Amino acid sequence: MAKAKIRTTCVVCGKEFTHEVQKYSRRDANSWEQWAADKEWTCSACLQVQHEAAQQAKRQAENEAAATRTKEKNLPELQGSEKQIAWANTIRLTMIDEIAFLLKGIRLDIDVDNPEWREAQVQRVMANSGRTDHDELLRTLDDTLQTIKRLALTRDHLQASTSARWFIDHRDKRVEELWKSIAE
Ligand SMILES: [Zn+2]
Repeated sequence: MAKAKIRTTCVVCGKEFTHEVQKYSRRDANSWEQWAADKEWTCSACLQVQHEAAQQAKRQAENEAAATRTKEKNLPELQGSEKQIAWANTIRLTMIDEIAFLLKGIRLDIDVDNPEWREAQVQRVMANSGRTDHDELLRTLDDTLQTIKRLALTRDHLQASTSARWFIDHRDKRVEELWKSIAE
């Protein structure tokens, strides 16, 4: 390994700084130094500022899009500081979209708590498939129905919640974890 190094001036702030990279050989390092001498460089502090500005612009665009969709979906207004609300709007929509995706194609008018309805489903599956493991089928159906029920309840809760703080605090949580913290 060989160290390649140039002394250059930041094109943004005009500060002089040293730019250093590792190359495999002295020859590579020399040719890099030649090439780098004619190039325009930006110091790490200015790169950081540029990066942050780009991130902020991206966030702002996301927040504006979220504010529009929030209105379209008739979601209640969130409570919190302006900054919190802008951010939480985006988080809330992501959460609701994720649940909508999981519930896609699932009929929610089914009576999940009705034992007769469940028994009829199991009987139908047994008749169609020839399976005889009634209790196992019922357990599987119960698990699925419980999951659907939880998803629907979680979605309802998310759609009714108005605390920007809550959404921000739960932004990295998976749907199951959201359900747990709602159910508590
Ligand atoms: Zn600079």
